[in-house]
Amino acid sequence: MTGVSRKNINEILTTEGLDALLVFGLPNIRYLCGFTGTDGVLCICGNETVFLTDSRYLEQAQEQVNADRVVCYKNKLHGISALTKELALQRTGFEAGAVNVPFYQELLGISETLTWFPLNKQLESLRAIKTEEELVYLKQAAALNEQAFRQLLPQVKVGMTERELALELEFELKRLGGEENAFDFIVASGVRGALPHGVASDKQLTSGELVTIDFGTRVNGYHSDETVTFALGIVDRKLRQIFDIVLEAHDSAIKAVKAGISIADLDAVARDLIGRKGYGDCFGHGLGHGVGLEIHEYPGVSSRSEASLQEGMVITIEPGIYLPGTGGVRIEDTIVVTAEGCDILTSIPKQYQQI
Ligand code: ZN
Ligand code: ZN
Repeated sequence: MTGVSRKNINEILTTEGLDALLVFGLPNIRYLCGFTGTDGVLCICGNETVFLTDSRYLEQAQEQVNADRVVCYKNKLHGISALTKELALQRTGFEAGAVNVPFYQELLGISETLTWFPLNKQLESLRAIKTEEELVYLKQAAALNEQAFRQLLPQVKVGMTERELALELEFELKRLGGEENAFDFIVASGVRGALPHGVASDKQLTSGELVTIDFGTRVNGYHSDETVTFALGIVDRKLRQIFDIVLEAHDSAIKAVKAGISIADLDAVARDLIGRKGYGDCFGHGLGHGVGLEIHEYPGVSSRSEASLQEGMVITIEPGIYLPGTGGVRIEDTIVVTAEGCDILTSIPKQYQQI
């Protein structure tokens, strides 16, 4: 566990008056102790960290995990029960967002003297500030997007389906070394562009359409996320007009990013611009989101946020305009916040492009 993470967790334990924290979510487990398998529990108490897992992952955990001890259990609940007794835990915090109600009820049944304290808000910003090492992986993932898209463009033609396009992109990304798709790729052409989450369909690409592609991959667990909208042939004036507005909103928001700006104010930079042009009702989602070990993580970038940007946060900037029955545009980059501005991690050119 890095010194910074350990310090943050110790602060939470002290503030909440807890003996220990049990971490159940895989992204936080990976972040805090390096385990990349799919099942385990990390227990952090005042002077010791213990990682619990089953026999499938014992060897992997012994090699990977940065903890004082690795303990193997046959049954997760029994493993937790034995450890809480051994460490004589009483007031124990747990990552509430990562357990379901049946499991929580089982935890409650472990012991009458043990109090479980759900932690949620206290943990949400744990991974928000990226380390240099994390930034290296995020940059690598973003670079794969650019290379794959460059390979894809010459293959895009009228008559190909959105699904075929998504498959080509997936193939290129994996061939280049991407671990897994960051999410189901969105390929939304023509009128489907009005669907902000239009997952690639069997619709064929047609001349005179805008095509929106939202995609990403993963490197060492870290995601890329980027959206490109381009024109297939000559498009209607109105579509061109909304493209220019979304690009202006995207560029203005990126210019406004710097450590200290309130996230709600940043969202307003893009939203107000789109509103002034008369499309305020056509931009329904937030401006962006944090990206890291999860594709959507803290901080959410929207008008509802009460947080401010801090140096080292990685977020997306992705304004859009969606016109039902006509089409839509979204343009997205992933950036890292710096003291004076930001560095843009994703690198596909975003200006108007007709192919
Ligand atoms: Zn995206
Ligand atoms: Zn995104």
